Amino acid sequence: MMTSMLEPGQIIGILGGGQLGRMLAQAAAQFGFHVIIYCPDEQPPAAEVADQHICAAYHDPDALLAFAQRCDCITYEFENIPVETVALLAQHKPVWPDARALNVAQDRLTEKQFIQGLGIPVAPFVAIDTREALASALAEMGGTGILKTRRLGYDGKGQWRLDAQSDLDQIFDDTQGQALILEGLIAFERELSVIIGRGIDGQIACYDPALNVHRNHILHTSTVPAPVSADDAAHIRDIGTKISSALEYVGVLAVELFMTSDGFMVNEIAPRVHNSGHWTLDACGTSQFAQHIRAISGWPLASPTRHSDARMTNLIGNDVDKWPTLIREPDHCLHLYGKSEVKAGRKMGHVTHIMPLGTIG
Ligand code: AMP
Repeated sequence: MMTSMLEPGQIIGILGGGQLGRMLAQAAAQFGFHVIIYCPDEQPPAAEVADQHICAAYHDPDALLAFAQRCDCITYEFENIPVETVALLAQHKPVWPDARALNVAQDRLTEKQFIQGLGIPVAPFVAIDTREALASALAEMGGTGILKTRRLGYDGKGQWRLDAQSDLDQIFDDTQGQALILEGLIAFERELSVIIGRGIDGQIACYDPALNVHRNHILHTSTVPAPVSADDAAHIRDIGTKISSALEYVGVLAVELFMTSDGFMVNEIAPRVHNSGHWTLDACGTSQFAQHIRAISGWPLASPTRHSDARMTNLIGNDVDKWPTLIREPDHCLHLYGKSEVKAGRKMGHVTHIMPLGTIG
């Protein structure tokens, strides 16, 4: 639909108003674009740094039409935007990434089938419809597994680890009729991710893979370089490239992987900028946010090369109280998201410690 490049002064619409939208809006401003945030919340973090905020539901056709009319190009900052919303907007203005990427990524079953279809390993999986199907699939997997809702799970929500002691009746009740997938439990050595930018013309810019450590199911740190060989890093980039090319993806895509003794497996993909790519803000000339804006604007992608080693640490809940110390630490780049209310488990900001190349690996 879009054949030409956006020009500075034009308007980018962002669905979603969280910290990812905020950092996308800041990147858009760097290039002189104006930003409208569309988000049902009243004071979302992204709206503080944007030109306008449309506060309306994702299913409000009139508000969506008004939004589309004002924008030159539209994107989103989280993958749980209804596909119908994106389809409706796409009738009026270019929306990147398109509905295909969203469809694949919103359902863990479709996502696994798609990735496996590309010849890329994923955890063994079975779609689950009944309590009986769960029991027999679990037995076939050797008695352990992770039951996940196919849709709308994040940060470990909508997941149940199962073993011989699990009360399957109770767990099946807890799933409240949601569509489910059972995955084999992978004894991974490490968790990694890779951020890939893909332009409208198919140009690819792949960042270095990061090593991710989670705490309480929430990302705690991302470190680059990840402790993998140059060959493995190239292999991970190939996986990311293959997935984004197969989707004819436009924008920045995140691919999360397990490193096992048998090689790499894709856990999931996110059709958006990603928490495990925040280090690119301070360790690269062009961040994932700027790259995404370039991609959806039809601009050529910039180099994803790293000029520093980096460790990004999320500031979750009260961690944000450390800001007075963090601003005194040399080479620590602090990013706060402007959220007034501190809540347990809430991402309040992040800090990236940058180090000379070669310090980490
Ligand atoms: P997800 O929401 O799929 O990213 O899962 C959240 C976390 O649960 C991952 O980061 C892993 O630490 C863990 N996990 C998810 N799926 C599996 C699996 N099949 N085997 C082992 N651990 C898993």
